[in-house]
Amino acid sequence: MPGATIDQDGPPEDAGKQGLSRRRFLGTGAGGVAAAVVFGSGLRPAAAAAAGDAAGGKLTATDPHAHTGRAVSSAQASVDGVRILPIDRAKFQANVRFDLRVEATGVDPETARIQIRVQGSDGPADILTGEPVRTSSAPDSFEVTYLGLRYPDPGTYTITAIAASRTSAPATARVTHEVVVAHAGATSATNVIFFLGDGMGQPAITAARLLSKGITEGKYHGLLEMDLMEQRGLVTTSGVDSIATDSANSMSAYMTGHKSSVNAMGVYVGNDPDPNRHPRVENVSELFKRTRDMAIGVVTTADVADATPAAVWAHTRQRAEFLDIIDQALRERQRPHVLLGGGRATFLPQSEEGSIRDDDRDVIEEFEALGYAYAGTETELREAVADDPTRLLGLFTLGTMNVYLDREHDPDPEVLGEFTDQPTLMDMTRAALDVLGRHDEGFFLMVEAASIDKMEHPLDGPRAVYDAIEFDQSIGLAKQWASTRSENTLIIVTADHNHSMSIVGTHDAREDLDPDRQSNGVYADAGYPTYVDSDGDGFPDTPDADVQLFFGWSNHPDHRDDFEHNETFLQPALLNEDGIAVPNPDRDPDALVQIGNLPLNQTNCVHTVEDVPVFASGPGAAGFNAVLDNTEVFHRMIDALGLVVGEEPGAGESEVEVLP
Ligand SMILES: [Zn+2]
Repeated sequence: MPGATIDQDGPPEDAGKQGLSRRRFLGTGAGGVAAAVVFGSGLRPAAAAAAGDAAGGKLTATDPHAHTGRAVSSAQASVDGVRILPIDRAKFQANVRFDLRVEATGVDPETARIQIRVQGSDGPADILTGEPVRTSSAPDSFEVTYLGLRYPDPGTYTITAIAASRTSAPATARVTHEVVVAHAGATSATNVIFFLGDGMGQPAITAARLLSKGITEGKYHGLLEMDLMEQRGLVTTSGVDSIATDSANSMSAYMTGHKSSVNAMGVYVGNDPDPNRHPRVENVSELFKRTRDMAIGVVTTADVADATPAAVWAHTRQRAEFLDIIDQALRERQRPHVLLGGGRATFLPQSEEGSIRDDDRDVIEEFEALGYAYAGTETELREAVADDPTRLLGLFTLGTMNVYLDREHDPDPEVLGEFTDQPTLMDMTRAALDVLGRHDEGFFLMVEAASIDKMEHPLDGPRAVYDAIEFDQSIGLAKQWASTRSENTLIIVTADHNHSMSIVGTHDAREDLDPDRQSNGVYADAGYPTYVDSDGDGFPDTPDADVQLFFGWSNHPDHRDDFEHNETFLQPALLNEDGIAVPNPDRDPDALVQIGNLPLNQTNCVHTVEDVPVFASGPGAAGFNAVLDNTEVFHRMIDALGLVVGEEPGAGESEVEVLP
């Protein structure tokens, strides 16, 4: 089925063309079908051939993909495997949409047959509707995908898939899905503001409190805005494929209620090499727009196409597909009303400097044609908001926005270049609330502090912590906004994953000991740092205090560290010609090398697996006082909104079999 993109805009033109004559109806019913057999005969899998070619050159024994390259399976062979997506133990809200995909590998796609049965608590469940898309992603693979299904009623459902072909014995897979409906409390939320501190584990929060509020004799002089939220819990962050998550799949869990895999969002990762042909799960943009006509807002200090913001609206297996992610943001069903951050490079036509496009489209103009006010600077943002727009696009740099320390606190013209008038995260949050707050049906706003993570990766504690303080001040602004409004607003604050950073003690920069680690104070020798916030803006006057925090890193490449703030940001390690990470000779050149513990090709520290905190205030906040799987954050949000998704009338048969 080459070119059959799995897309909930509607079945692709050629979807089911071959399958249509090959179906056998197994029964009748009102809503859909509970069982189907789909045959693969007649497939001419250009995609499969292309996938084979993509493996490239001669396969060697060490190639992990070598086993998928074989062309012949013997008559005695068994089907290697059959896989059902969504995965076992996936949890759904009733009537929220998802694609169902069954993949059979180790089969001859021309003679393969996949039988699917769906069993609910009370017998066969008629959820299979529409023509399935039949694909072959590899020479020995046959896949069936049903688009836009939904479970109409709460309960437990079991899906059984049996795959067989003429050349192989059958294999079976079975998954159980849990379907729930929202159980709202006495008061439901009208609005949700979702704050995401990227990589903001507890060390970043503690460091922000230390620097922003100060501490003497063990007692803080104040608490952070997030410390003062009504409820708190912990979130576990692992994904389908790995205990260690990236920002795409962890944010996707919050935005869909479903697990995903590293680099993926809004999809379960199947076996198709095309990033757009993976089974989708409905995300908050689609769900809140279609069910409640809520407005959607996305604010970030990252590129707006980066993983965390994109997971609010996009479906892709590859987070790096920025052009496609922004194309998806243009689709009415997925399109945010407010989109503020960096990332102008994806919007500019290729003729303009800095563009990463390969065409002449001016995507800013395309948004303006859809009624969006546009701002490219903080000044323009203020002017745009003064005109009371209903739609707002702001792109303040080409890629990631500069960090607070370099952008606001100690602006360095060489670092900022032409982007000297960037808004703060507070400015962007305020602008988004101004626009979204006028929307009668309520809104969902996501606010991300991206560079907590982006500065932890290169082991730059002070820059990460200043951005965590900026994040906290944005939370304070939202709390203040919510307190003055009559409607109910749930505020959630969490992180997508923990990070390598740790606060160990202090480093005395006045000493000139050799090596520098001799000036790291631990236990009683640590005492207290000497940051000063003389203007009371919540940020220390300088991160380069006499006695600074001693940042430790649980994982890292080989790098040099003098344990003091770097006035200019520098990467800790760089790749040499052999692809090995070596210490950056320009960063702390006189310091000792810290021997790394990561694989030799890693130039940055990486995310870690520990749980992250979640905080909540407002209607439904009590649901966050728990240890939550990251997908559960979505369901608690649905509960807070009291969002019971109505059943849409279906039409179809209760059981079908697809005939050759
Ligand atoms: Zn990261």
